[in-house]
Amino acid sequence: MEALTPAQIDLRERAVCFVDETCIPLELEAERSGGPLPPEAAKAVADRARELGLTGGNHAVEVGGRGWSAFEQVLVQEELGRNTNGVWWNMGGGYNVLACGTPEQVERYLKPALRGERADSYAVTEGGAGSDPGGIAGTAERTGNGWRIRAEKWFVTSGDVSDFDIVMVNVVDGEQRLPTLFLVDRDRPGIEVVDDPPFTHSFPHGHPTLRYDCEVAADAVLGGEEMIGRGDELQNEWFVEERIHIAARCVGAMRRLLAEAVEWATGREQFGGRIYDLQGVSFPLADSAADCAAARLLTHDVARAQDAGADPKLVHGRAAMAKLFASEAAWRCADRCVQVYGGRGYMRTTAAERFLRELRVDRIWEGTSEIQRLIVARGLERRGVERMLTGEF
Ligand SMILES: Cc1cc2nc3c(=O)[nH]c(=O)nc-3n(C[C@H](O)[C@H](O)[C@H](O)COP(=O)(O)OP(=O)(O)OC[C@H]3O[C@@H](n4cnc5c(N)ncnc54)[C@H](O)[C@@H]3O)c2cc1C
Repeated sequence: MEALTPAQIDLRERAVCFVDETCIPLELEAERSGGPLPPEAAKAVADRARELGLTGGNHAVEVGGRGWSAFEQVLVQEELGRNTNGVWWNMGGGYNVLACGTPEQVERYLKPALRGERADSYAVTEGGAGSDPGGIAGTAERTGNGWRIRAEKWFVTSGDVSDFDIVMVNVVDGEQRLPTLFLVDRDRPGIEVVDDPPFTHSFPHGHPTLRYDCEVAADAVLGGEEMIGRGDELQNEWFVEERIHIAARCVGAMRRLLAEAVEWATGREQFGGRIYDLQGVSFPLADSAADCAAARLLTHDVARAQDAGADPKLVHGRAAMAKLFASEAAWRCADRCVQVYGGRGYMRTTAAERFLRELRVDRIWEGTSEIQRLIVARGLERRGVERMLTGEF
């Protein structure tokens, strides 16, 4: 495996420091409150991430980001994944599609988001359209001054705190329905939180259902008028990035799970000896170690190939493979570690218990495991078995 450059080692050390010294110490407070931290603590997390140069890694330096490569983003995401309760999520940032905004949109949305002055959310899923975004019913129709947006969006992560949303709707053009991303300021009249249900994990923000029946200005199309009908294209870029990031965070989760479970099992004694010496205890940990190492290699390989200019369709297929494998492996690993802890594994004060709940969604969001399998299967046929397996391009 290629060695890290001194700059990459430094970047990873900063991420380790942020997670170990800022995020992990806040986990239990976050758990006890159901996810959110008090505003001053959440701000301290965001400020610390900015001080350490960790915010906006996926954006160019010119717009206030860090300009990291895909691999460097993976190095940081892997460390963030060691943290439960998504404390790191408080650091903020901006969705990658914002980089496709017009110069005015970059000034108005992306730059302030990276400075921590604005907060975004991304609203695609609807009650009737999840795995199949082709079923989206939300619409945008031209009015005298701009657009009328009508949509009901489900599971809008951070939709309870965002001050603008990136909303996927179909522009109505005669008989045509053109998937398009809009930037919608939350202070527009006609946006309503319909529901804000509790979820399995304890996360800093909610995932509310939002109803939009609002007017937005003529320049609210993300990327400008020429991007009308090209929402899926932009969306794919987000999916690829986020699927690689999810895989990386799952690797980080497995690293922490294993570190803590091995420490526990080598110290715990029953029947006059260490439970680690019982193969019923150590073998599941060995399986998890193999899962973690394999997921890590695959994820690093996909990110490095993307940086090296691999065919985006091949990267898309292999990012799906990495997300599928790492998320399924991480959940297996959490389940095994809970078992190794015995009754303590069922206590919310044990990281393994929290990971068991939190990692479950990684098999669902940004495309379920079944959808990743569809993408992988399609890749085997279209990109070729050898290329999908080796990543050679
Ligand atoms: C906590 C959380 C946060 C989220 N955040 C966001 C967000 O910020 N923005 C956003 O837009 N969305 C968000 N989502 C939505 C998420 O992306 C969807 O839940 C996910 O894509 C699945 O869609 P669905 O829930 O409608 O399930 P469905 O599409 O109804 O799927 C139900 C089941 O059918 C299976 N299935 C569907 N189609 C196929 C197929 N072709 N082959 C095999 N099996 C299939 C699925 O795998 C699944 O098991 C979030 C979801 C959660 C739980």
